Amino acid sequence: MRIRAFLIISSAAVALCTGAGGQPAAPSEIDAHIAAAKAAAGLEFRGTFMNLCLPGGGPGGGRAGAPGGRGAAAPGAARGANPALTGLLAPRPAPDRATWYASPYKVFDNLYWLGTRQHSSWALKTSAGIIIIDTNFAWATQPEILDGMKKLKLDPKQIKYVILSHAHGDHDQGVATLQSKYGAKVIMGGPDWEDTLKRPAEAAGGVPKRGPGDISVGPEGYKLTLGDTTVNIIFTPGHTVGTLSYVFPVKDKGKTVMVAYSGGTLTGAFGSNAARWDEYIDSQKRIAQAAKDAGASVILSNHSEYDNAYTRARLVAVKREAGEENPFIVGADGVQKYFTVMEECATASKLRNNAK
Ligand SMILES: [Zn+2]
Repeated sequence: MRIRAFLIISSAAVALCTGAGGQPAAPSEIDAHIAAAKAAAGLEFRGTFMNLCLPGGGPGGGRAGAPGGRGAAAPGAARGANPALTGLLAPRPAPDRATWYASPYKVFDNLYWLGTRQHSSWALKTSAGIIIIDTNFAWATQPEILDGMKKLKLDPKQIKYVILSHAHGDHDQGVATLQSKYGAKVIMGGPDWEDTLKRPAEAAGGVPKRGPGDISVGPEGYKLTLGDTTVNIIFTPGHTVGTLSYVFPVKDKGKTVMVAYSGGTLTGAFGSNAARWDEYIDSQKRIAQAAKDAGASVILSNHSEYDNAYTRARLVAVKREAGEENPFIVGADGVQKYFTVMEECATASKLRNNAK
C-alpha cells in the first residue's frame, strides 16, 4: 500500500514537472523533497502527507467528503482575494448528523475536545476562565461547543477568549455567537480580521465585531496570558494571509505537557506564486522552532485528518496501561516530523508548480 502510493506520487511528479512551462525543476529534486516528507510522515501523519504532497491535494483534491463541504476548508485562490466572500459563508443547513456528530471528550486535565468527526474546536481551561480555540461551522456551535461544554461540566459563561487559527468557515463560523452571547474576546491574525469584517451580515454564523479587548495579531505574534496559562501565539501566514499557530501548556495527570497547534494546512491554491509558497514554508520553520524551544510533544490541528484528534480523543477515555502515555503525545521528535512534512511537501509542490 505504501509502496504503491509512493510509486503513484513519483510518476505523477515526473509527469507534472515535464509538463510545466519554463525551466522546470529536475524530477529528482522534487522526488527528494517528497521522499523526505514521506519518511517524516510515516504512518503517523499520513493524512497530512497525502493532502500536501500529492499532486491535486488541497482544494477539491485530497480527502473529500467532509460534511459542510471540502471547499469550505480551502477557498480563496489568489492572495488578497477575500476567501470569506467566495461562497463558503452562505448559510447552509447542517449536514446529516449521522455523518459528523461526535461526543465531546476531556483529553488532558485542562484541555477538552469539542469537535465533529472532521473539524476540531478545543476548550483550554485556565484558573481565570476558558479559552476556545477554533469554532467550527455555525451548525456545530450548539451541538458540539455549547452542548459539549455542558456535558463536560464547563460553563460557557466562563469563555473569556476565542482564538481563531484563520478566517475560513470551517473554523470560524461559531465565533460571533460566542462573542455576542458570552462576551468572549476574539483573537485573530490582523489580515484575517480585516477579511472577516468585510463579510456580509447574513454570513453563516454572523460576523464578529472588533471592539476593545479584541486582538489583532501581527507578525510579532502575541502572548495571551489568562490566569495560570500563557498561549504563545505565532503569526504563521500562508494558508491564509493571517493564519495563527500556537504553543501552550496543558497538564496530563498533573504533569505539564507542551502542545504545538498548527493553524492552517492546505496549499492547493498557491499555484505559481513563489512568494506565497515561501511565506508558508517560512511559517512552518517558525512554528517548528517555537515548538522545539518549548519542548512541545503534542501536535494539534483543526482537522482530524491531520492530527487524528477524533480517534485520539476516544482513546483517552480507554484505560491506560502501565507505560502508556496520553494518546495525543507523539514526542518532541514527532512534532518536528509533522512540520517537516508540511515544509518538505510545500517545497516539492512549489517546484512542481514551477513557482516564481
Ligand atoms: Zn482553511
